[in-house]
Amino acid sequence: MKRRTGQDRSITANWRPATRAIRGGTARSEFGETSEALFLTSGYAYDCAGDAAARFAGEQQGMTYSRLQNPTVQMLEERIALLEGAEACRTMATGMAAMTAVLLCQLQTGDHVVAGRAAFGSCRWLVDTLLPRFGITTTVIDARDPQQFADAVRPETKVFFFETPANPTMDVVDLRAVCGIARERGITSVVDNAFATPALQRPLDYGADVTAYSATKMMDGQGRVLAGAVCGSADFVENTLLSFIRNTGPTLSAFNAWVVLKGLETLDLRIRRQSESALKVGRFLEGRVPRVLHPGLPSHPQHNLAMSQMDAAGPIFAFEVDGGRKQAHALLDALQLIDISNNIGDSRSLMTHPATTTHHSVAEDKRIEMGVSDGMLRLNVGLEDVDDLIEDLDQALRVAGL
Ligand SMILES: *Cc1c(COP(=O)(O)O)cnc(C)c1O
Repeated sequence: MKRRTGQDRSITANWRPATRAIRGGTARSEFGETSEALFLTSGYAYDCAGDAAARFAGEQQGMTYSRLQNPTVQMLEERIALLEGAEACRTMATGMAAMTAVLLCQLQTGDHVVAGRAAFGSCRWLVDTLLPRFGITTTVIDARDPQQFADAVRPETKVFFFETPANPTMDVVDLRAVCGIARERGITSVVDNAFATPALQRPLDYGADVTAYSATKMMDGQGRVLAGAVCGSADFVENTLLSFIRNTGPTLSAFNAWVVLKGLETLDLRIRRQSESALKVGRFLEGRVPRVLHPGLPSHPQHNLAMSQMDAAGPIFAFEVDGGRKQAHALLDALQLIDISNNIGDSRSLMTHPATTTHHSVAEDKRIEMGVSDGMLRLNVGLEDVDDLIEDLDQALRVAGL
């Protein structure tokens, strides 16, 4: 690898976000390729036995095995770290691999976690089911109220874990207040920032210790691959996270890393355009359905807070119909352009009924308590012409009796 300007922080840290997203992390091989190379290799060869020994001893720079290092994966990690404004980043095979690793790498039996109650279904499973199995206790609170975090703290509390905006209720967490409570008490705050991405919200700027991502969503942005990432201080990543992921192997494939590198090149453009369209669609829906949950709209109870910590509200929001599951399904079935799909962050517009898909495994009382009603629909607004999206919704709403 020669020209490494994309990896030289004394240069790249001066670049603005859109430039970092395209050039950050780039390391060119001796061929001088303009687009990042895809290194599909599981291992590496050494010039001599002494080099192999020196590399394993950490006395020589270089790669040893793709569970531990891969040039394409490293380019992506450096690019995400730069976008996040983090000292370090490690990627993983999926967002859930990242969430699992970020929790298990720092917790042990006897520890306690405080987590936001509105969350991605599998994140709730980690908190409600997996951690308690290992003697790690958890308290689930309404993360919209910072005081509930403070009240839940015990001497053995190690981690605050929450997402903002939350999936799919669009609850917003006051990053500065909650991360401040964690800092004061020596608790690690872990923010699942999948909905906003660093293009719209950088939790580390508000005092968060660690951010965790499903890069499957806006970072790939075109519905192609699964990927995850964890960002934080060099100390956290090198000394707490790294040995866990190297030895348990939730490694991201080089191919998927390459796809996400290409996705990041257009992240800024996509997320701003999709946010703009989502706001237009949200305004249209406000006139037609009883409730729209969109942090970019003044009707959202936390609109001011959301806009104080996000550059734009993002492409995803939820809305509710009064006719429950029957009416929600009728609306979905009448769509002609927007796909029925539980994915988000895609350049295609997608709509899902969380109660019967992403949150079907959450017990009904817990689901209702989280705010995921039977009449709730979640919409990911893509890059199509927004007028076509509104026309499709208009005809589908009419079919559903709205
Ligand atoms: C999708 C998602 C995840 C899980 O990510 P995968 O890449 O699907 O494993 C975690 N948190 C949030 C908020 C998500 O939207």
